[in-house]
Amino acid sequence: MSKTILIKNGRLIDPASKIDKVLDVFIKGGKISKIGANLKASGAKVLDAKGKIVLPGLIDMHTHLREPGRENVETILSGSIAAVHGGFTSICCMPNTTPAIDNASTLEFVLEKAKKARCNVYPFAAITKERKGETLSEMAELASLGAVGFSDDGNGVRDSLLMRRAMEYSLMLDVPIVSHCEDESLSAGGSMNEGYTSTVLGLPGIPKESEETMVARDLMLAELTDAKLHICHVSTKRSVEFIRSAKKRGVKVTCEVTPHHFTLTEEVVKTFDTNTKVNPPLRTKEDIKAIEKGLRDGTIDIIASDHAPHLSTEKEFEYENAPFGMLGLQTTFALVMKQLVDRKVLTLSEAVGKLTVNPAKILKLNKGKIKVGEDADITVVDSKKQWQFRTEDIKSLSQNSPFIGWRFKGKTMCTIVGGEIRFLE
Ligand SMILES: [Zn+2]
Ligand SMILES: [Zn+2]
Repeated sequence: MSKTILIKNGRLIDPASKIDKVLDVFIKGGKISKIGANLKASGAKVLDAKGKIVLPGLIDMHTHLREPGRENVETILSGSIAAVHGGFTSICCMPNTTPAIDNASTLEFVLEKAKKARCNVYPFAAITKERKGETLSEMAELASLGAVGFSDDGNGVRDSLLMRRAMEYSLMLDVPIVSHCEDESLSAGGSMNEGYTSTVLGLPGIPKESEETMVARDLMLAELTDAKLHICHVSTKRSVEFIRSAKKRGVKVTCEVTPHHFTLTEEVVKTFDTNTKVNPPLRTKEDIKAIEKGLRDGTIDIIASDHAPHLSTEKEFEYENAPFGMLGLQTTFALVMKQLVDRKVLTLSEAVGKLTVNPAKILKLNKGKIKVGEDADITVVDSKKQWQFRTEDIKSLSQNSPFIGWRFKGKTMCTIVGGEIRFLE
């Protein structure tokens, strides 16, 4: 039985209903039971949120958990612990596990493990069997079992006809195709953005075109099939422009950006810190400007972490040989505050919308809003709290973050999932 909780005196920001007001929230039986001023509830646990901000629980639409297959790197449980420390009440896990989530038994295994996670975990299933890009997975069966969308993330789908068929099925199943846009014939062997800096550093480059050509193709296929397409981790100016113009034509496309792509440029690769090696790679100032514009005008719908744990023993290679990916769950909200809200790229409410109601809409989750009768998934943050991200704060089983040592303003103070407090500072 869930207890009753009364959150008092917090500034409630709910982008879905455009509320921004000091209000109390009463939680009972795992649901939001009352919202109002000066609520009273005898026997309830009272959380004093005076001076703090009460938000719908954050949703991360792009998380890599390494279970099944590499449970020493991250498990569904450890990833969910990192999530609630970062303010996330729901995360969507990518199917590039070992084996891949491309069949009913692996999906059922993940869903079973998810029941014991600290937050809600929604799995994506693979578009193609073993993510090899050769034959489609049993999409109808996987969707009926609970896959919230389909993705071969980690790899692009090379074969255009196969992608077209995947989109046609996804339309019937009413779930999005979540596309990692990369033409591997252009990016192969590369380890950072291709340009002047990669030449100076003597590192093999990944041209922007390897992303942009696939963004363009997938937009055309979505237009042809009328399917719902979600483009992962947009990193270049031209990708943003392609998506903007497709949206204008009525293509059913949504997209995301990661905190590292709006925070860091290729310049940080000069440190040769392998924690800066991500796919797509960190780009340039000009790309960040275009991403900020895309966030402001709504071309970019959501912000997602692309949390990708790797052991330090895996990252302790030369830059060229290290794997791609960095942690994100515990730093996403802080980077959103630092780079977008404090710099006035977005208002707090706009930023929160990209972490709550927008991903919920894309995935048709009944989440992402604070409303009477809804699940009590709530995140309380202190927008003024100063803190430093330290290695010992990391809750993941891996520690591959380039943000260790960074100072932030704005921190999760409490994360409530289904009416239960799962994190309290
Ligand atoms: Zn990806
Ligand atoms: Zn990813």
